[in-house]
Amino acid sequence: MKKLRVGILGATGSVGQRFVALLSDHPWFTVTALAASEKSAGKPYRNAVNWKMATPIPDDVARLVIMEASPPLPCDLVFSGLDASVAGEIEEAFAKSGYPVISNSKNHRMDSDVPLLIPEVNADHIDIILSQKRNRHYTAGFIVTNPNCSVVGLTIALKPLHDTFGGERVHVVTMQALSGAGFPGVASMELTDNVIPYIGGEEEKLETEPQKILSTPILISAQCNRVPVTDGHLEAVSVKLTKKATLEEVKEALRSFRGEPQKLHLPSAPEYPIVVMDEDNRPQPRLDRNLENGMAVSVGRIRPCSLLDYKFIVLSHNTIRGAAGAAILNAELLHKRGLLSRRTL
Ligand code: NAP
Repeated sequence: MKKLRVGILGATGSVGQRFVALLSDHPWFTVTALAASEKSAGKPYRNAVNWKMATPIPDDVARLVIMEASPPLPCDLVFSGLDASVAGEIEEAFAKSGYPVISNSKNHRMDSDVPLLIPEVNADHIDIILSQKRNRHYTAGFIVTNPNCSVVGLTIALKPLHDTFGGERVHVVTMQALSGAGFPGVASMELTDNVIPYIGGEEEKLETEPQKILSTPILISAQCNRVPVTDGHLEAVSVKLTKKATLEEVKEALRSFRGEPQKLHLPSAPEYPIVVMDEDNRPQPRLDRNLENGMAVSVGRIRPCSLLDYKFIVLSHNTIRGAAGAAILNAELLHKRGLLSRRTL
């Protein structure tokens, strides 16, 4: 099988760099185009990027010259890690020009004809692509989004509980890593020895996006905090279930959860999408964020809650499971379902 050629929009950012790192040696995709702002366009990637990944920039990508973020680009599909201030229009322009757009940005997530996809949770939502193409007069192109980085961990943890016991109400307090704010993000003088109890727009996303993904109204109350951790969002969650459940049943529902990526053996799929931890002091960002190459969601401290029914801690890697890794898994599902193909360049 010839690999599909991919472009990365916003290739120089936190999420863009994670795309570059995760796509090196991908069995189905190869990076052939990079795009960013005017400031970076025209420069070799090596010179334009302030590389923050722990692995070196793959040589073939380091040499690519960054292009402006407008079609055409020499690729079959694009991943978008664009700043939200520009993502909406640029992504539409690519979809209109025939490119599948797999986006991380918030701009199109809540559009009724755009899948907000977590392949383990709502793989069937890719069927909306047909009506999107019809509504928007797209020929080969379309837009698929992944959720906000905190929403991914929360929703994966809620899915098996919701399917098994029904879910009515959720209270969640997040402790979100610095890399979630992009680079340079929050100034070190603001976050060292500190916690910032506000992340603009984040609570609204946590309260709405899971309802679209789970296709059900759930009352969610969220409080979001930025903490001095580099990667990995931790969330303290309490849930009210519709049916009574024992602690062991709750743990078993989480532990035995598998989805479409596991059935299809997609290359980026974690073997266990949820890793249940029994230790009193886990999960922890530094120790557990890279489980299953950063694609597993860890759930620990599962115990009865005196206000709702059960409470627990969720951890997920925000730029992998919450962003670039999530988008790559989406693309793998789309490819397996025959929705991606080589274009004539
Ligand atoms: P970032 O580090 O600030 O990177 C933003 C990227 O957008 C850079 O490559 C930048 O290029 C490019 N850009 C800015 N203005 C542009 C323009 N006018 N035209 C073309 N490109 C432009 O942000 P990030 O954290 O990677 O986030 C990227 C997107 O993913 C955002 O929409 C964010 O909300 C979303 N997201 C982030 C995370 C996370 O954990 N970080 C998780 C989920 C979703 P230059 O370097 O040339 O300026």
